[in-house]
Amino acid sequence: MKIVATVCTFGSRDHHVVVVGGGFGGLRAVSKLRRAPVEVTLVDRRNFHLFQPLTYQVATGALSPGEIAYPLRAIFKRDRNVRVLLAEVAGFDLDGRELNLRSVGAVPAPERLGYDTLIVAGGSHYSYFGHEEWRLHAAEVKSLESALAVRSRLLAAFEAAEAEPNAERREAWLTFVVIGAGATGVEMAGQIAELARDTLRRDFRTIDPRHARILLVEAADRVLTSFPPSLSAKAERSLQRLGVTVLTGRTVTGIDAAGVTLDGRDGGAERIASRAVVWAAGVTASGLAGKLAELTGAERDRAGRITVEADLTLPGHPEVFAIGDMVRVRDRGSEPLALPGVAPVAMQQGRYAASVVRARLRGGEYGAFRYRDKGNLATIGRAAAVADIKGIRLSGFPAWATWLLVHLWYLIGFQNRLLVLIRWSFSFATHGRGARLITASTTSEQRDG
Ligand SMILES: Cc1cc2nc3c(=O)[nH]c(=O)nc-3n(C[C@H](O)[C@H](O)[C@H](O)COP(=O)(O)OP(=O)(O)OC[C@H]3O[C@@H](n4cnc5c(N)ncnc54)[C@H](O)[C@@H]3O)c2cc1C
Repeated sequence: MKIVATVCTFGSRDHHVVVVGGGFGGLRAVSKLRRAPVEVTLVDRRNFHLFQPLTYQVATGALSPGEIAYPLRAIFKRDRNVRVLLAEVAGFDLDGRELNLRSVGAVPAPERLGYDTLIVAGGSHYSYFGHEEWRLHAAEVKSLESALAVRSRLLAAFEAAEAEPNAERREAWLTFVVIGAGATGVEMAGQIAELARDTLRRDFRTIDPRHARILLVEAADRVLTSFPPSLSAKAERSLQRLGVTVLTGRTVTGIDAAGVTLDGRDGGAERIASRAVVWAAGVTASGLAGKLAELTGAERDRAGRITVEADLTLPGHPEVFAIGDMVRVRDRGSEPLALPGVAPVAMQQGRYAASVVRARLRGGEYGAFRYRDKGNLATIGRAAAVADIKGIRLSGFPAWATWLLVHLWYLIGFQNRLLVLIRWSFSFATHGRGARLITASTTSEQRDG
């Protein structure tokens, strides 16, 4: 079955750009091509764009899934040259300039899709440092599904503690461990602490949620290593004020259903009994990076990122761009540059790739990609955040207000911005979290059908 033609020839313009991934990078590329003289097909295995910087708020009941996700079709509904295709990319035929596609669920997809220019923005996923078995017991918050699973696990832990007569087991239910103290880990730990000490403080009769232990474990010697040390220290103090115990310089050596094992300070092992563990440590590039590296011989680093040329194309394939979390960039013949795995990098690269396509169609040239670092932000809790913006270091309320504005600005869709603003204002005034629902498949209703 070859349905290539039905997908590719849907307009009178003849240059067909295929963009893989409707995340931060892919979305920017398509937006910049919406009025260009090209036909664009955006392929994603999800039918929505996910605003990943706020998934941890879904995981802690502060926001609902619909407020941080937006349907891809709705974003481009007015752009006649843009087509959205729900399918999974399974492989590449770079010489034949075709993608191999796979169906998502019961939705049929063409087996192949031809292109003139290809932009691949497949992102990354959490890696468990070779311990895939840890994934079962330490959920992460990268996807909407996993954020909802974390939400259910956290809330179910409080429920279980309320019902648990044995003091030791109750303590295990009320011990929350977050692994990895980058921005996501710090934000998660801060939110769990606010959930326990603030939102839930009057909800239970047997337990006092304020007595919950929240541990943040980090192998490095400080939290938020991508920030200057002075801001890391401020963030750590804010976490401590919220009741989070920060364990830096500690490595996780085991995770199972009953808890976490850390290397002990005395060289031995320390066991922490916990029933709710959240993983926020290292990420690895999308499998698409590996497939492209195999086909082109391009280098990959330890995080699986493929090395692209200074114009973000693959070696020997100027018609194929790879962008975002899955790449590092060769910097004018010198050592490849691993830019931070953040949304602004992916967005700037998406815009850049689209600009190169437009310039080429005009018969022009375009210079090498240059990243403009606009700064680094992380929130810890209510009116507590840190920001490093072009050397200006902020903490406390000014950093938190900046964080709030930036996130609202970059959220997709006016309706989502308004809803999130209303939610945040309401939560700030009432200390509430409206989306505290246990929805994962642990209920007997789901088990019994
Ligand atoms: C919990 C969390 C918090 C974060 N917080 C921040 C923050 O505060 N600030 C910040 O700047 N950055 C933050 N980031 C990082 C930021 O989200 C990423 O850097 C950014 O999403 C990378 O964009 P991308 O386009 O490369 O990939 P993504 O945005 O991940 O998009 C990849 C897309 O490709 C699709 N896809 C993948 N494989 C296939 C396939 N085989 N077939 C079809 N489609 C496919 C996926 O469905 C997805 O839509 C955070 C990330 C996480 C996980």
